[in-house]
Amino acid sequence: MEAMPQQPVCEPLSEADRQLVEGLQAGRLRPLAKTITLIESQREEHRARARAVLEALLPRTGNAIRVGISGVPGVGKSTFIEALGLYLIEQGHRVAVLAVDPSSSVSGGSILGDKTRMELLSQRPEAFIRPSPSSGSLGGVAEKTRETMLVCEAAGFDVIIVETVGVGQSETAVAGMTDIFCLLQLPNAGDDLQAIKKGIMEIADLIVINKADIDSAAAMRAQSQMKTALHMLRPASPNWSPPVLTMSALRKDGVQEFWETVCRYRDTMQASGEFASKRKHQALAWMWELIDAGLRNRFRNHPAVRAELPALQSAVGSGETTPTIAALQLLGHLNS
Ligand code: GDP
Repeated sequence: MEAMPQQPVCEPLSEADRQLVEGLQAGRLRPLAKTITLIESQREEHRARARAVLEALLPRTGNAIRVGISGVPGVGKSTFIEALGLYLIEQGHRVAVLAVDPSSSVSGGSILGDKTRMELLSQRPEAFIRPSPSSGSLGGVAEKTRETMLVCEAAGFDVIIVETVGVGQSETAVAGMTDIFCLLQLPNAGDDLQAIKKGIMEIADLIVINKADIDSAAAMRAQSQMKTALHMLRPASPNWSPPVLTMSALRKDGVQEFWETVCRYRDTMQASGEFASKRKHQALAWMWELIDAGLRNRFRNHPAVRAELPALQSAVGSGETTPTIAALQLLGHLNS
């Protein structure tokens, strides 16, 4: 590979950023918002500052429980998160709500980031609600959310909720950055089958049938169908079979049971050592994701690759050469 001058990956902290770190560690919201703005910035200079701030904050991170929540639009995510957040604040917690919604830059998003969505929760000083970063690709959005999560932890938030919509790869991304991944479902059978087909149930640690107040019999039917379906899957942990709860987020029924289940999960995973090993695995997967993205970028920007790519692409397209030969030829430039 072309020899590149090694740039320092992390600058020393400037005086201004040292103050940012101190303010953040004191739990103040302005420095928190400022740091997240640096994280989300497209400018390399801001990103470098964000890296230095994160590095300084690292010893203060990792103390929160990270809860992923997914479900199709309309299932009741924001109603539930607001009810849960208010309940947790009553219990003495500080709650940060983040979102991963890669569609947000294109369409304004399925998860609306505006504060009116969780009006009561957003008025509480113990809560911090941040809409999805809108940088485009899922990888970029997920990376910024992971970093934001660490910053929130350093600022003293001890429950981090990461919300995503029940479509596409964003669920896998959120499951890969949280301790427990919870799936909200509507009480109808078609929905269950869809979830199984999409393979989401395999990554869910906890399933919640919401809107049980509308038709409690239907909710119980859905619950038992889900349980049967779950029996057919191999659980991710030998120590945990994902429970299926029913809830009415609107009436706040089931919120306490939900939280007790999350705590039971954490305690079980901590006792077996899986809690720490999952986080370690997630951190390494994150590192490799960044390495893969970095290599791909360097490859695409390599002058010889750029020069040769159009001709080779059309040769592959017209069948003049095989994809294997074209790929090997292009990759060969990394050795020069
Ligand atoms: P999201 O798109 O998943 O965030 O869903 P929302 O929280 O915005 O809820 C969508 C609609 O369902 C709203 O009109 C809510 O009031 C309603 N809703 C949410 N939870 C419940 C529930 O438990 N029971 C009933 N009956 N309605 C609910």
